[in-house]
Amino acid sequence: AQTAMVSGGADADAGIDRVLWTEADVAARVTEVAAELCADLRGLREPAVVVGVATGAFLFLADLVRRVDAPLAVDFVRVESYGDGTESSGRPRITSDLKVDVAGKHVVVVEDIVDTGNTVSCLIAHLEKKGASSISVCTFLDKPARRSANFQLVGDGKFYRGFECPDYFVVGYGMDYAELYRNLPYVGVLKAEMYKKDTSN
Ligand code: 5GP
Ligand code: MG
Ligand code: MG
Repeated sequence: AQTAMVSGGADADAGIDRVLWTEADVAARVTEVAAELCADLRGLREPAVVVGVATGAFLFLADLVRRVDAPLAVDFVRVESYGDGTESSGRPRITSDLKVDVAGKHVVVVEDIVDTGNTVSCLIAHLEKKGASSISVCTFLDKPARRSANFQLVGDGKFYRGFECPDYFVVGYGMDYAELYRNLPYVGVLKAEMYKKDTSN
């Protein structure tokens, strides 16, 4: 059924060139970030709202919140800018909005990776308009080399990150290439031949 997709065989990891962070590396670092976040959320007067950016943040969010012993709500937004390629369009759109009311709340945006910063900037503006009293960003990976949009946290918001990521297109631990590889428990780089031939340029 998946003959139209780029596929290298029956294993989920077919096509991975090398691993940047193993499953154990990820678990150890997520535990540390969760401890930092937990200490901050326990100091709040009311429950925070943790907002995951679908789909990429789903594993990080799941691993993170179960290590945070503080009252919190979880919701998701969908923001799209990438399509199936490896380059951001630079114009993210919110294609699925929150269900939880964030007015007057402390919001923690949970991302898989902050690259140009366009997605996070767009989301911060959106959440601020909805009346969030403070906004933090917690990203599994941070690729500062490619930052073009400098986002500003709101109120007492903080920036948390798992790892600084070198300037490669990475997959696994929630992150995809053409919707595949999200289920890998580690983060890796694809072999060059796995990318679809782009005939548009
Ligand atoms: P932005 O450029 O707006 O900061 O990043 C937007 C989104 O692009 C990220 O949340 C992530 O979903 C995707 N993205 C950025 N860099 C990578 C990457 O190296 N690998 C994958 N799979 N997605 C990425
Ligand atoms: Mg994302
Ligand atoms: Mg993607």
